[in-house]
Amino acid sequence: MADLMKGLSRTHYCGEVEGVGNEVTVGGFTQRIRDKGGLIFIDLRDRTGIVQLVFDDTTDPKVFEKAKAVRSEYVLMAKGILRKRESVNKDIKTGDVEILVNDLRILSKANTPPFEITNDTKVNEELRLKYRYLDLRRAKLQENLMMRHKIAKVARDYFYENGFLEIETPMMMKSTPEGARDYLVPSRVHPGKFYALPQSPQIYKQLLMIAGFDRYIQLARCFRDEDLRADRQPEFTQIDLEMSFVDVDDILKIGEGFVQRLMKETLGIDIPMPLSRLKYNDAMNRYGSDKPDTRFGMEITDISDCVKECGFSVFTSAIEKGGSVRGIVAKNAVGTLTRKEIDKLTETAKGIGAKGLAYIRWVDDAPSCSFAKFMSEDEMKAILDALCCEKGDVALIVADKNKVVLPVLGALRLKVAKQLDIIPEGFNFLWITEFPFFEYNDETNHWDAMHHPFTMPLDECLPYLETAPEKVFAKAYDLVLNGTELCSGSIRITDYELQEKMFKALGLTPEEIEAKFGFLVDAYKYAAPPHGGMGIGLDRLSMLICGADSLRDVTAFPKIKDASELMSECPASVDEKQLEELHIKTME
Ligand code: ASP
Repeated sequence: MADLMKGLSRTHYCGEVEGVGNEVTVGGFTQRIRDKGGLIFIDLRDRTGIVQLVFDDTTDPKVFEKAKAVRSEYVLMAKGILRKRESVNKDIKTGDVEILVNDLRILSKANTPPFEITNDTKVNEELRLKYRYLDLRRAKLQENLMMRHKIAKVARDYFYENGFLEIETPMMMKSTPEGARDYLVPSRVHPGKFYALPQSPQIYKQLLMIAGFDRYIQLARCFRDEDLRADRQPEFTQIDLEMSFVDVDDILKIGEGFVQRLMKETLGIDIPMPLSRLKYNDAMNRYGSDKPDTRFGMEITDISDCVKECGFSVFTSAIEKGGSVRGIVAKNAVGTLTRKEIDKLTETAKGIGAKGLAYIRWVDDAPSCSFAKFMSEDEMKAILDALCCEKGDVALIVADKNKVVLPVLGALRLKVAKQLDIIPEGFNFLWITEFPFFEYNDETNHWDAMHHPFTMPLDECLPYLETAPEKVFAKAYDLVLNGTELCSGSIRITDYELQEKMFKALGLTPEEIEAKFGFLVDAYKYAAPPHGGMGIGLDRLSMLICGADSLRDVTAFPKIKDASELMSECPASVDEKQLEELHIKTME
């Protein structure tokens, strides 16, 4: 039988003991035991840190015997006198003190853990996720989750102070198209019908503005059935907000206030305001991405003008078909970007849609160039000048439709910068504004909404809605941090006639509009203040602030790539009876 706590009451957390000469009581997990015969040291750990317990020849023999029986990860409570330590341990906060224990309780024994609870664990992640509750005992993960808590708290404090009301919205709702695939919940009471888990509370927060709540915030759980990557989980949390009587600038300003407060309170960093802004088209043309990492340059240069009359048909035909020839230059990169490395980059480029990769590699007096034989001397000089390519540099060039050229160069830019290790540390926040409203879908030959279909077009683009969709830009914005999209939002359409027009432009029939959004369109017929908002990804924000590589490191119980959870082993089969009640037959 384990000991009871009876008679003991914790006075301090392990990492916060103070008051040398006083009696203190601590509780925690056993990190390490050193048994030196007549002297035993135990490192006791809780979420605040570690404190050293000591047992020596002055210790009551019963207590000493008990200390001898302690093993890794046992849960202990110990009472004793806090005293100065002879040999100070500079690595821990409490390294100059120790507790000479006079009462020790073994409150819970532990099996030998499958891996050691330490920050620099070499154990593979799958095993750690299977025993996530042990993995979470590691200081690094404890710190991450405490930081995440702090971020959530700053968010609540800031938005509450700015007049936002926290209102919960349903977890089970009607399936409405919002971009990703829904997770569905079958109804027992309504055979054959389904609820959807919210991809975000988008529709509800708009309805809350129609209802007159003026400013809403929620730390909302969102669910999207998409393929996962390091920066995507099937369920995640958004700091979700919506405001009435605002336009784009008002929302960006509120967002900036949050960023400023957050960075100061979490990392003590002053972020200069206002944050930079870049229009979507400029971001794509300069960085080949709508979430560019602007901590470094290596911008894309259009060299179509220099090569439009050259003898290289790969270049000229791309231009003739309405595409372009563009390149990036990696400065002083000949050492790293060898011919072999360029071959690998070519494979990367092909993997993301390019037909090939042209290059200039300038090692000796004259540059060596994969397409030199097709160029006149003047053309070559014009290319080098336009790219600002000098001896020691490597230029990578792609020719194709812009839809291919820009993202391929954007991806190469990032990859090469990482290879060259030229990305400085720091936090580079950036608004991307004026997204195109429509996106042409080559597969369906349709215009799709790039954001969600409730996004307001820019005032000056309204005349083009039905005639020139490619000229319509949206009052939509993203916040990007170091190349990661942190937040996305827009001003919403509040005029139901305009909303119906947008739905039609997106190819939705009146029946589809009625079935999918009827209630929303109806709601706007009862008047709505102008409103807009955004959803800030709490998980990604936490990942970047904690300097973590993966969302899994800032999520208590994450899913892996195939959307399963290794500890509880979900998803899992259910009883036939449960399925019957839900009117469901599986096809397996
Ligand atoms: N619901 C949007 C999203 O999840 C955010 C917004 O527009 O407020 O991206």
